[in-house]
Amino acid sequence: TAYLDHNATSPLRPQARDAMVAALAECGNPSSPHAAGRAVRARVEAARRRIAAAFDMPSDAIVFTSGGTEANNLALRGTGAVTVLVSGIEHDSVLEAAPRAERIPVDGNGVVDLAWLEARLATGGVGLVSVMLANNETGVIQPVAEITRLAHREGALVHADATQAAGRIPVSFTDLDVELMTISAHKLGGPPGIGALLMQEGFPLRPLLRGGRQENGLRAGTENAPAIAGFAAAVDAAAAPDAGVGVLRDRLEGLLLAAVPEATIFGRAAERLPNTIAVAMPGVPAETQVMALDLAGVAVSAGAACSSGKVRTSPVLAAMGVDAALARQAIRISLGWNSTADDVARCADAWGALWARAAGRARAAA
Ligand code: PLP
Repeated sequence: TAYLDHNATSPLRPQARDAMVAALAECGNPSSPHAAGRAVRARVEAARRRIAAAFDMPSDAIVFTSGGTEANNLALRGTGAVTVLVSGIEHDSVLEAAPRAERIPVDGNGVVDLAWLEARLATGGVGLVSVMLANNETGVIQPVAEITRLAHREGALVHADATQAAGRIPVSFTDLDVELMTISAHKLGGPPGIGALLMQEGFPLRPLLRGGRQENGLRAGTENAPAIAGFAAAVDAAAAPDAGVGVLRDRLEGLLLAAVPEATIFGRAAERLPNTIAVAMPGVPAETQVMALDLAGVAVSAGAACSSGKVRTSPVLAAMGVDAALARQAIRISLGWNSTADDVARCADAWGALWARAAGRARAAA
């Protein structure tokens, strides 16, 4: 099959699998003082340093979590900030962790409205701003460094959910200048169930999970050393620049538009991740497209279907002002480290064939 749903989860990279298999064979609690424990501790700390370096951190102040969701919850609930601003296009793990947060609007390209943000910050009292680095549905990249500049001027902290950006574009924690940043292994070819919150050294964060003093007292529970090993190996592998994905994505967009000239690609005028396409086929429900592609051996998703497979109108497209009917005809195609020219051709062929059938039915009905 052509697996084109990397934004839901990316296949495990061989380097990550090898590192995990090796780590699974090792017994030792990293908190134990004996040699077995120390060996595992050394590997966990080496992984932490490699991840810190890959994201250009000045320290290795990283809390390993069970994934992006937990890292986002830790960030949103751990600072103690009362007044929180989040963009209207955040992942549910940000929105639900900060239910009373005010929503920063986005423009028609899906980019946060900086003028609105600046004006809101100037009225005072904002403790924390949380904006994702790249959107999971459209791939649109947010001006996080600029957001940090505005927020810091008014004394607000900044968290960036870099779950979809990490491993797909270069991400510098230092340049973004944020206090807190979320990443997740399974979006970049590591295992699911492991993520991290990157933080400024010494940042006063309150833990969500209480118990042992692991992770500097910020996350109780024995570290998942095999998953951490796989995470670091995937981060290393993803760091090697790969222009191929962007070339394939652009080729696929060209083929899709050639097959369906009436199609709409969302966020295309903005800066985007090189792997993501959010595209609507007019008149054809997203579920129909997903099923037709599935029958042709192509895996894509209807919007952000990573939670339950249920279909709902995308809040991301709604926030961008996309007409509700068109939004329900939008699918997300996301490429990644193992995508090929064959995948692209198969996807474009199947989508074009569906359009031809839909047009045929429309003619027959007329
Ligand atoms: N943030 C974004 C932008 C995501 O796309 C996801 C993916 O589902 C998450 C957070 C949650 O990450 P995880 O699946 O590791 O909990």
